[in-house]
Amino acid sequence: MADIIQLLPDSIANQIAAGEVVQRPASAVKELIENSIDADAKNIKLIIKDAGKALIQVIDDGKGMSETDARMSLERHATSKIRKAEDLFTLRTMGFRGEALASIAAVAQVEIKTRLAVDELGTLIVVEGSEVKKQEAAATERGTSISVKNLFYNIPARRNFLKSNPVELRHIIDEFQRLALANSELGFIFIQGDEIVYDLPAGKLSQRIVGLFGKGYQEQLAPCQEETSLASVKGYVGKPEFARKTRGEQFLFVNRRFIRSNYIHHAVMSAFEGLLPENSFPFYVLFIEIDPKHIDVNVHPTKTEIKFDDERAVYAVVRSAVRQAIGTHNLTPTIDFDADVNIISKLSQSAAQSKDVYFEERFSTALHKSNQENWEKLFEEREKTLPQRDITPEPQTMRFESALNKPEQPETALEEKFLFQLHNQYLIRPVKNGLMIIDQQLAHERILFERFVNQLKNKASDSQQSLFPQTVTLSASDFALVMEMEKEITALGFRFEVFGKNALLINGVPPNLARAGEKALLEGLVEQFKINQSELALPINENLARALAKKACIKSGQKLVKEEMQSLIEGLFACLTPNYSPDGKPTFFIFDNLKIESYFNRQ
Ligand code: ADP
Ligand code: MG
Repeated sequence: MADIIQLLPDSIANQIAAGEVVQRPASAVKELIENSIDADAKNIKLIIKDAGKALIQVIDDGKGMSETDARMSLERHATSKIRKAEDLFTLRTMGFRGEALASIAAVAQVEIKTRLAVDELGTLIVVEGSEVKKQEAAATERGTSISVKNLFYNIPARRNFLKSNPVELRHIIDEFQRLALANSELGFIFIQGDEIVYDLPAGKLSQRIVGLFGKGYQEQLAPCQEETSLASVKGYVGKPEFARKTRGEQFLFVNRRFIRSNYIHHAVMSAFEGLLPENSFPFYVLFIEIDPKHIDVNVHPTKTEIKFDDERAVYAVVRSAVRQAIGTHNLTPTIDFDADVNIISKLSQSAAQSKDVYFEERFSTALHKSNQENWEKLFEEREKTLPQRDITPEPQTMRFESALNKPEQPETALEEKFLFQLHNQYLIRPVKNGLMIIDQQLAHERILFERFVNQLKNKASDSQQSLFPQTVTLSASDFALVMEMEKEITALGFRFEVFGKNALLINGVPPNLARAGEKALLEGLVEQFKINQSELALPINENLARALAKKACIKSGQKLVKEEMQSLIEGLFACLTPNYSPDGKPTFFIFDNLKIESYFNRQ
């Protein structure tokens, strides 16, 4: 029988490699700019058209290439950066695999113009789908200009797979920001169409941050520096009060290479422990410098993941660096999360978080107890200050007192009577220090969340048996997900059995959630779990508790009877953290007497 194994033609091998290296226009942007940085450029200009789909051009004033090198640079595994396998471990340059240019040239129309400083004439090379179309001497500036036109023009499936322009542009901006942050001593210009997106002169990191994110960042940066024999950490962290609800402005670099690491991110977050409202993320740009022999970057071609040989030590350095940055700026005492009522939240939050932000501990009984003592103390405080209520007190103390009142305590008959629902959305009731407005949906979400957390922790729950068990058919992957979390979902109060292919028979649901049907509840749980998973990267238990709380809670617009309102309020103030919904929105607000008085010019 004839031999059948053949080597793939280079053009096909390159196309296959391109799939890994060049996923979208942003990947080409990254590779080209990294090459310019490696070529010791001082100024780098990025020009794109049509979100990079029509054109990506990078122009640098770096060392340029000889004609032979320019031609060679398009070959796969052609690189000037490593010569032998060991070099991989002492890597200092950005690129090293020698496959970027070859890959890009396999899937686009590429034009290279380049000239060495010592040469008078430079070189022009045109390649389309790995085929060299033109190679000639050409007059050009010192340095290199590479333009990549019509990315994936020869692979329609990949081209169709590209996302809308705003999405692709967002990816390009992300890459650009990372490179510009890591190289503030280089000048960058970014032009999209006819518009200058960024014009960043060479400068210090702080100037680069302001250049990229705006003047507002000036006042929020706290410098960060820490050195140990293993590694050093430098950069800036944003002050806690500027933290945002969304992620995206967290930049971590190792030896100037942008990386993602949940582990190191956690180190930063733990340094902020107790200073951030729930689910918000501080800005940070941190550079870890470490001897390359302690890391392995050869994990993935896109090179955003990394392995440290001593992860824990790096964690400790980062955490301590950030701690110090926050400490030296004396941020702690000045934090005021929101206004008024949230003095309560500050106390209860710091009580809840004083041990550790880890999920399990946050809900331990010891903490619960200390939290309740806090509440009780607050209440005593109120009792003591109450008689002064009629003598006009110092505005300051009054504000303090009113904010500290634990509102849900025995009230007068009159106040009991005045519990009502506004717009089927808010519960309104007078309290001693003003008028309390509770968001029924957020409050109930908080109550359910804490209930589910406890159930998951104790791995036990009651279930309310269904009179008529319902079947639900799921997609194969959702079905697998449910089966994987069978124990947890059972702990939440569901009872079910497998009922044919990808189908379940639901026999029971968590009690007292009568308003949602069995099927809707389980499907909603799975759906919300997946959303949380992609957006928040939560631990499974926290994710499940949040997902089900969100799905099962009383919604805005739902009419409640008096007893329901009362039990909602009681439930809320029996919570560990009554002030916030699981995703950090305030659950209630007190329109305090002082404010009311101020409307009538009485003080
Ligand atoms: P790598 O960067 O991994 O070496 P590339 O395919 O990205 O692989 O580039 C191949 C080679 O082409 C580089 O090693 C370098 O010698 C040369 N090169 C690419 N871009 C530039 C540039 N802008 N200036 C000078 N040389 C370049
Ligand atoms: Mg490269």
